[in-house]
Amino acid sequence: MSTQDYRSILDAGHLEFDFVRAAKVNRAAVERLWSLPTRPMPAHRGAASLVCVGIGDAVGRPAEGQNPPTTLARYRRWAGWRRGPIGTITDDTQMTLWLARSILESDGFNGEDLVRRFTAERIRGIGRATREFMAHAKSGEPWYRTGVQSAGNGVAMRSAPVGIRYAHSFDDLVTVAGLQAMVTHNDPMAIASGIVVATAVALLGSAANGDAEALTVPEVAARFSRALGELIRGMEAGRDYRTRNTGLSDTTQRDTTQRDTLFNRLTDTVPRLLLSSADPRTADRELYSGAYVLESLPFALFCFLRRATEPIDAILDAVNNSRDSDTVGAICGGFAGALNGIAGIDPYWVEELEFAEELDRLGRALANAMSSSR
Ligand SMILES: [Mg+2]
Repeated sequence: MSTQDYRSILDAGHLEFDFVRAAKVNRAAVERLWSLPTRPMPAHRGAASLVCVGIGDAVGRPAEGQNPPTTLARYRRWAGWRRGPIGTITDDTQMTLWLARSILESDGFNGEDLVRRFTAERIRGIGRATREFMAHAKSGEPWYRTGVQSAGNGVAMRSAPVGIRYAHSFDDLVTVAGLQAMVTHNDPMAIASGIVVATAVALLGSAANGDAEALTVPEVAARFSRALGELIRGMEAGRDYRTRNTGLSDTTQRDTTQRDTLFNRLTDTVPRLLLSSADPRTADRELYSGAYVLESLPFALFCFLRRATEPIDAILDAVNNSRDSDTVGAICGGFAGALNGIAGIDPYWVEELEFAEELDRLGRALANAMSSSR
C-alpha cells in the first residue's frame, strides 16, 4: 500500500527527492556502524517509547519558549486544568497518538486518513507549519499536496510510532517515515528528520540488553549518532539550510548564520560533543534548540546519548536546557523509552501522565502488528 503510494507520487512529480532510493544507497554505510534489527521490537519497549514521548512533552510544556536553563524536576500543573493528571501533554503527543492510531487502523500509511486525523481535533500549541498545513487540508488539497516547505519540529516530534511498527523492515520504515512526514512538512530536512527519528527508535527498541550499557561509552554513543547521519547522507542536498546560532552565548547573540545540515550535525557535531564530554549547556550553545529540526533533533539525541540508561535524567536535561522544551523532551523521551523500557522509571511519571494508558496500548499494538505481518 505505502510502496504503491510512494511510486505513484514520485512518478507524478510530487516528491522533491527519492528518499527511499537515497536510504537504500546509504544502508551499507549505516550497517558498517550499527546493525539493523533482525528481530521484532519487544512490545513493552514500543510502549515505553510512546509513554516517554508523552513524559518529555508534558514535563517540558511549562518551559516551552523560555530561554534555558530552567529547573523543572516534576510535572507542573497547567493553569486552568482542574481535574485529571497533572502531566498534561501538547501537540507533540497528540500528533504521535494520531499517527499511531492511523498506522494501526489503516494497517500502514494512509495519507487521507492521516490528514483527517491531524485536522479533526484542536491541536494544543500548534506550530506555524502545522497551521499552514491545516489551511491546505481544509481547502481540499490531496494529502501529497498538504505539506508545507518547512524544516520545523512537527515531523521529528511525532515519528516514533513508525519506528516501532516497522523496526524489522528497513524499506517500509523509510517509506512510511518519509510519506507521513510530507503530509505536513514537504521539506528535505523535515523528511530526513522523520526517517532519523523512526530509525533511531527502531534500533534502540530492538537493541539487546547489553547494548544499553554499551551506549554509555562515548565512542559507542558517537558511533550511533554517526550511523543515523549516514542514513540521510545527500538527502538535504540542494537546499540552503542555515544555523541560527553559531556557538555564541545567549547574551551575545548576533545575526550570524552558517550553512549546516542534519547530516553534518549527526555525523560530526553531536559525536564531537559526546567525545569531548560536553554538558547540555555547552551543547545548546552550539546546536541551539528551538522550533527548527536542525537544532531540536541533534540536541535531543545528544541529551539522550549523554545519559542513555537514565531516561528521566536525560529528559530533564533536554527540557531544562532547550527552548522548544516540550518537543525536545518528547524526541529525547522516544529514544530513552525505546532503549530502557518503563521498568526503571518512578511510577509517578506514568501515573500523572495524560493519555499514559493509550500511549502504552498503542505502543504495544504497533510492536505486535509488526511481528504478526510480513
Ligand atoms: Mg508542543
